[in-house]
Amino acid sequence: MSLEEIRAFSSELLAAYARNGAPRSLVIDLQQRRLARLLEVARGTRAYRDLHRLRDAPIVDKARLMARFDDHVVDGRPSRVHAFAFLGQARPGALLDQRHIVTTTSGTTGEVGVFVVDAPGFARLRATVFARIFRGQLRPEGFALLLRRRYRMSFVVALGGHTMTAVLALRMPRIGGIVADVRALSIDDPLPLLVASLNAAPPLLLHSYATVLEVLAHEALRGRLRIQPEIVTAGSEPLTQQARAVVGAAFPGAALVETWGATEHVGLATACPLGHLHLNEDAALVEAVDADDRPVADGSWSERVLVTNLLNHAQPLLRYRLDDRVRIEGTPCPCGSPLRRVEIVGRTDDVVYLDDGRGFQVHAPIPFEIALLGVPGLLQFALVHEEQNRLRVSIVIEEGADGVVVADLVCERLERYFADHGLTPFVSFVIEETATLSRHARSKKLRQITSRVPRPTGNTLVPAAQRRRHSPEQSS
Ligand SMILES: [Zn+2]
Repeated sequence: MSLEEIRAFSSELLAAYARNGAPRSLVIDLQQRRLARLLEVARGTRAYRDLHRLRDAPIVDKARLMARFDDHVVDGRPSRVHAFAFLGQARPGALLDQRHIVTTTSGTTGEVGVFVVDAPGFARLRATVFARIFRGQLRPEGFALLLRRRYRMSFVVALGGHTMTAVLALRMPRIGGIVADVRALSIDDPLPLLVASLNAAPPLLLHSYATVLEVLAHEALRGRLRIQPEIVTAGSEPLTQQARAVVGAAFPGAALVETWGATEHVGLATACPLGHLHLNEDAALVEAVDADDRPVADGSWSERVLVTNLLNHAQPLLRYRLDDRVRIEGTPCPCGSPLRRVEIVGRTDDVVYLDDGRGFQVHAPIPFEIALLGVPGLLQFALVHEEQNRLRVSIVIEEGADGVVVADLVCERLERYFADHGLTPFVSFVIEETATLSRHARSKKLRQITSRVPRPTGNTLVPAAQRRRHSPEQSS
């Protein structure tokens, strides 16, 4: 088995790396061949027994997939019962029946999802991501050498459950020290211990959640964390402007690479050296669709996406619905990649809808982040929309900074933000200082912007910036 996995990983790594600069037609050719093979494999399931074309595949979401679990796995294996029992007993990253990787979603959106992928397919998926992460770092000759030197990587992630990040961190060492020396560090460890572990074996590649990278970057700026990674990769959470700036300052020699993945597909997109996310079209088909699952044009924002995982031959995922809003760019990126660019919103942060007395304004997370960007002494913040137009802002203060001064600055910035949007008389907020921000119990993701207020219905929604242009005269 593991030899097959190593072979799949190595060959896909080199081939996918070569495709970084290949003509688009070659990528599309491969995509279509992989799709044809996937459909053939999918006919081995009860759900897709008679399926011939992707467009005839019914749209699947997590609830449907979980309800009909046994129908969606090839040859009916592993069964739902078998997979759930395995999750209860096995360590994350272990193989079920010597051939299947099993992962679960965090359950942030309702029911927990359980996903199965064949080990070679999983190896190819992650190889594709690595090939994109290493793009621009090495020439092809150097890249071949990479396979022969032990490249040290550290994953600082939640290791408790069978989440995709835990499996990614823990599965790699079992692929063998041939490809890399991979360390998995738990974000539940106290910070001084994490710093000491990283210092003891400095990684060339450091992977974590964006907010954790931010914390580690501050440790580096204070001189406690002494590593010089070549590559820093961020996943699972949006990479905020603030995180980008701090990580850049702390690790000036490193390329900071953002990734977009899901439990259902580990490598949907990877950022290019210019910082644009590109779809991994050789491993996935991503359809941007509206609320009725109809395709939206390139350059328009979708309501959600339909993902077809081209490399999972155990539980074929065809036109699987994810709630991410994306915008796919049809024109080529100046970086020269044959893969299309994609922008994503709403990955973990919520959109906040604020009532300005005439209707609801839509506030995306990024403007809030920018409003609080560069407040001296502010380490992290979390904003919760608790009741309609009432917000709570939790702030974490940098060591040695004055909490009262920082809170005043945050207050000033937010007041200005709401005044700019004509919301001053309508919106109230409280600021509280806290030692740490709480993470989601299972996923350990930190949500910077959370809304507990239901999304308003009707046609009264206006993007905040647009509303501001049309009604400039309302600030106090
Ligand atoms: Zn690019």
